[in-house]
Amino acid sequence: MENQGKNMNVFIMADMEGISGICRSSQVKPDGVDYQSARRYLTYDVNACIDGCFAGGAKKVVVRDAHSFGFHFIWDELDARAEYIQGASPLERIPDIQNYDGLILLGYHAMAGTPQAILEHTMNSKAWQNFTMNGRKCGEIAIDAGIAGDYNVPIIMVSGDDKLCKEVRRFLKGTLTAQVKKGFDVEGGKLLSKNCAHDLIRETARKAVASCKKIKPYKVKSPVTMRVEVVSRIKLPFGNKNVKIIDGRTYEVSGSNVEETLKLL
Ligand SMILES: [Zn+2]
Repeated sequence: MENQGKNMNVFIMADMEGISGICRSSQVKPDGVDYQSARRYLTYDVNACIDGCFAGGAKKVVVRDAHSFGFHFIWDELDARAEYIQGASPLERIPDIQNYDGLILLGYHAMAGTPQAILEHTMNSKAWQNFTMNGRKCGEIAIDAGIAGDYNVPIIMVSGDDKLCKEVRRFLKGTLTAQVKKGFDVEGGKLLSKNCAHDLIRETARKAVASCKKIKPYKVKSPVTMRVEVVSRIKLPFGNKNVKIIDGRTYEVSGSNVEETLKLL
């Protein structure tokens, strides 16, 4: 059983809001007073996850710096065994995901509107109130699981707060979760210590890679319809033939799969 993870190619999407040690917005914004230390916390969680992947039998690990514009890792402190994607990739949110056996969503957060979830939002914290995919309200877990699912790649592990882990269990079957904190508020919670959080991430990643083959991909039925309800009045995308305006604050797009549909938004 332990050698089932042998020769796996693993992709890690690393967001910031669900990283251990992070529980306020000044930590995830480059002009925030706590941002520089939070970059270290992100880098350490990434290293712990990579270490676990190789312990579980991974052959190759690629990590995307997936928060905001994607320039947050402390590059010279990253694990030498992996490769890293930083900055923009306009054509693909998860580049070449079809070449991987499993995807890990590290440091993710619960969907917009989740009570007592640390830094909850969906894609755009200022603009998006609610988001649905084929009529089901969801967040970034389902979006990224859906993109990987377009290519039959499973989400093997997720890390973040307790609300995120609960959301994962509602959407994904068999995905391992590393709960590194418990949310009390959008900006507040109970955090594991650094060593405990890293041990948990490392061990969960090891088990996830070792059991990679048993976890099923998340498939979203085609055609995919995505509906966005915005927080306040915005300039609606009139005249775009891919967009259907539902009302002054709601519009939707449809496409053949999750990845294609997301690009239309
Ligand atoms: Zn983020």
